[in-house]
Amino acid sequence: MQTERLEKELPGFKKNIALSDYTTFKIGGPAKYFYTAKNQEEFLKAISLAKELKLPFFVLGGGSNILVSDDGFNGIVIRNQCSNFNIKDNRILVEAGVRLETLVSISMENQLAGLEWGAGIPGTVGGAIRGNAGAFGEAIGDIVQEVEIFNLKTEAKEKLSKSDCQFFYKESIFKKDNNLIILSAQMEFLKNNPEEAEINKQKMINYSINRQKTQPLKFPSAGCVFKNPPDVSAGHLIDQCGLRGKTINNVQISEKHANFFINLGQGRAADVRELIEIAKKTVKDKLNIQLEEEIQYLGF
Ligand SMILES: Cc1cc2nc3c(=O)[nH]c(=O)nc-3n(C[C@H](O)[C@H](O)[C@H](O)COP(=O)(O)OP(=O)(O)OC[C@H]3O[C@@H](n4cnc5c(N)ncnc54)[C@H](O)[C@@H]3O)c2cc1C
Repeated sequence: MQTERLEKELPGFKKNIALSDYTTFKIGGPAKYFYTAKNQEEFLKAISLAKELKLPFFVLGGGSNILVSDDGFNGIVIRNQCSNFNIKDNRILVEAGVRLETLVSISMENQLAGLEWGAGIPGTVGGAIRGNAGAFGEAIGDIVQEVEIFNLKTEAKEKLSKSDCQFFYKESIFKKDNNLIILSAQMEFLKNNPEEAEINKQKMINYSINRQKTQPLKFPSAGCVFKNPPDVSAGHLIDQCGLRGKTINNVQISEKHANFFINLGQGRAADVRELIEIAKKTVKDKLNIQLEEEIQYLGF
């Protein structure tokens, strides 16, 4: 009955899909159901239907900040690929399924400054806003002016101002309240003259070079596993505890960047979890600092 409704109302919906194919970690068991929404109508329909059928659902962006259990997810994964955008003067209205990399390119092409730091960050605008993604001292919350959401509680679309979003380091209202599904955002950039635009382009290139030098980009990962505690990098703390290079089966704390855990091939979520627990316990015992995960869990 449930499957029939989903099949009828969500054309292209799939069953028993390996989530490892949809995460940058290349780890994760199957989703019972899987649906890719290409526009807002499809996205909202899938959410409403999941709610009506009392089916657990998970909104997936680029899968670049999640660890999915080896047992997978017993519900429907709704992948957001709503990718419209509209540029007006120094503002871009962008749907949540647009890839952050695409938004970086669009802003650069239009001589709009403010997202140079985002080059090389995988994932979507929706995922970035939820986690207030950032790098090199800047974050997406700095340029977000307004976010349109679908509120699962009121079952209506609403607009949140920048201050409503409660952005701070790797945090936002969206992390605290899972009822708020991000549909689109209005971003405000700084309009550059051609000379400034060239300087900003170079800034972006330098950030990318820095990533290549410092991050293990040849291996699947979910980026930084832990948030940085105040005034210190989590990678440095893990390194100080002698855990750089520690390996469990096919998952390793990267030699290149100790806050990146890498999948050496056929890595399992259970091994990632074990390494996470070891890192947290060791850093707490040796340095009395409590590490907190930046990555989000699904299916545990
Ligand atoms: C090589 C590498 C480098 C990285 N570098 C950085 C970095 O420099 N800075 C940084 O901050 N991060 C970094 N990351 C982590 C990651 O890319 C970002 O956090 C990214 O913004 C996550 O977006 P996503 O679409 O992949 O989210 P997903 O992993 O798909 O989802 C993350 C969370 O957001 C939720 N979500 C997704 N879309 C929506 C929506 N529309 N509404 C509500 N909730 C939603 C999901 O349900 C989930 O809880 C890196 C990752 C990798 C692999």
